Formats: sequence, structure tokens, C-alpha cells
Amino acid sequence: MNLQAYGMETIDDFDEVRQSPLPQERLKAARKKAEAFRERFMDEPCVAYYQSADMVRVPYPTWYAYSGVYTQSTYKFPYLHILNRIFIIQYYDFLGELKTLLFSPSDIDADRETPFFKRLTDKMPKWSALENLVAPITRDVTQALAEIGLTPADIDYISYDHLHTQDVRQWLGSTTADQEREAYFPNAKLIVHEKEWQSVQGLLPVQAEWYCPNGIEGVDLDKVITFTSSLHLGKGLALIHTPGHTEGNHSLVARVPDGIRVTSENGVGADAYAPMNSKVDAIRRYAEKTGMEVILNGNTLEDSTDQYISMVIEKTIAGPSKNPDFPNCASSSEATPYWLIPGNKVSHLIGEAKFGSLKKGTANGKSKAQQSRAEQQEIA
Ligand SMILES: [Zn+2]
Repeated sequence: MNLQAYGMETIDDFDEVRQSPLPQERLKAARKKAEAFRERFMDEPCVAYYQSADMVRVPYPTWYAYSGVYTQSTYKFPYLHILNRIFIIQYYDFLGELKTLLFSPSDIDADRETPFFKRLTDKMPKWSALENLVAPITRDVTQALAEIGLTPADIDYISYDHLHTQDVRQWLGSTTADQEREAYFPNAKLIVHEKEWQSVQGLLPVQAEWYCPNGIEGVDLDKVITFTSSLHLGKGLALIHTPGHTEGNHSLVARVPDGIRVTSENGVGADAYAPMNSKVDAIRRYAEKTGMEVILNGNTLEDSTDQYISMVIEKTIAGPSKNPDFPNCASSSEATPYWLIPGNKVSHLIGEAKFGSLKKGTANGKSKAQQSRAEQQEIA
């Protein structure tokens, strides 16, 4: 794929770090590359606009959220709450054009078809009455955009750290034998790692549990941009391949006024990225006894050693958050306290954020630019 035509560049820093047969050597190589990458990335300008906004709370098994921590204890809270967020970012690509990216725009209704969550809801009696209590929605994608005055035509790209639970058909449109759907975002393309895109088309049962059935079916391939290593989207913005949770997982890396924010679902929050500093006794003790420097989000451990290394890359690139005990890893689904589960604590919340100033009406600008280009061609 000609990424330069899209104003993007390849990042190859991490391509060779997983070569050694010794996992410790792989970790060492990854950490070294991540330190150098961070130093370089801190010199990049901040993205023009960065916002993370709460969308929906979802009950999530504690065993998955903090893999390994509770295997030798009788834990009182089988579920905790994770909060899904959407990330709205404007940045200049390497052709100098302003682009708008939505990271993790979940289609909340369609996502409920994910087999794991479907079985969970089927188990709950009178689910619809309980739904707002168990999985309250703060805003959906369309509301998040309306709140800040962006129109569907303003969106250039959508991307997800991986495609678990995602159904992109509403956003990109879909054409199948029995159904044709219009794209909600008429100008948007999906940016996805080549491995993730391939995976979804040939899942094993252990993976299929977490993927929305037919979530990419009938999507026009001209609307899909795949990449193989890591991707520099523009100044201050990158997608770094961080496999493990899934093979094609990537992390959003954004230069913002409070440093560098790194987003994925490899870990569910601050406690997962710095367990040795956790105020949750079970997590801190587990880290002290085992030497774990990260706790994996383990609903699908496609490759746990890769995920471990990826989380170290993420926290090294991110650097410290405003609480220096925890890195600036803004998980796309963050473990968050909820009154329904009063004993569930977290040590530090990254929460929502907003930086920079939004440019509205970029869709009009786009059509004007296209028009003037067409006129120039006519004159030529
Ligand atoms: Zn996942």
C-alpha cells in the first residue's frame, strides 16, 4: 500500500526487537528502542487537537482485567467496570493537510452481538431494565461529534487498537448480497494493521468469542488502509504495532501538552502499567512477589510474552503521567470505580482529556481543495 500518497510514513524502530530466542533479550531490545523513540517523539509538535471522551461502561471479569493477580485468592468481585472512550484527534499529515481521526469509535448497539457479551446479557433476567444500571451510556459516537460541532463528513480516518467487539459497517458502509448500507462517515477510511485485518477473516474459536460476527463484512476495500510495521500518521501522531493481546494490535501514540499519551487495551489502566506502585494490595503484592512490571489484560492471550513486551514499550514511550508513579497510558477501556461495585478501587485515573483547538468545517475545506485541484487540471 502506498502510504506516502496518504501523507503517512513507516516507522520501523520496533521491527527487529522480537528476534532473539531469549525473551529477556527481546524485552531489553524493545525497551531500548522505546526509550530512543520517546526521546525523538518528544521533539515532535503536539497534535492540533486531542480529546478523549467517555462513552459506555461495561462489566468486565476481574480475572481478565488483571491476569494472574487473583488466581490464588478468593476474590469477592468477579466483575469490575471498564469505561470505553473515544479519541478525537486533529493533526497535520506529511503532505501538510489537516486530518481528523477517530480512534476507537465503538458502535455500541452493534457491539452487543459480540459472543462473550451476548452470552453475558442472555444470562441476566430482564436485561433491558437493568441495562442502564449495569452498562450506562454517557454518549455514543454521533453525540460525541455533535457536542463539539464536527459533522460526519469531517472524519478522514477511523482506527481501533484492535477489532475486538467492533462492527465498522455503520461507519464505512457495507454491500452484501442481501443488504446495502450507506456509510455514516462518507469520507472516512479505516486504518488497521495488516495482521489484524487478516486475523478477522479466519478466526479460531478462542478468538471469535471476542469479535463481532460479520463486523467487517461487505466493507469496500478502497476504504481500508493496512500497514505492516508501525505508522507515522503525521506530526505528533503514530500507530505502533504492539502485538500480544491480538496479533495485529496497535497503540495510538500522541504528542500532547502533558507529554505523550499511549492508548490501547493491552492493559486496563494505571494499575496494570505500574503494578509495583499500585495502592490495591493484591496487585502490588503480586508484582512484588513475581517481579511483573505490567499486568496483562487477558481475555485473549494470543501471545502473552509479546503482550508483556508491548506493554513495556507502551509505558516507556508514554513516560510519567501527572502522577509520576504511573505512566501516561490512556487505556481505551479504563478500569474505573463504580458505585455498583464499591470495593473496586484504582490507584490513579487517567480519565477524559482535551487539548488544543478544534477546526470545524474541514469537510468544506476538503471539497474546496478538491475543486481547485480539478479546476487546475482542467486548465492544464
Ligand atoms: Zn480486546
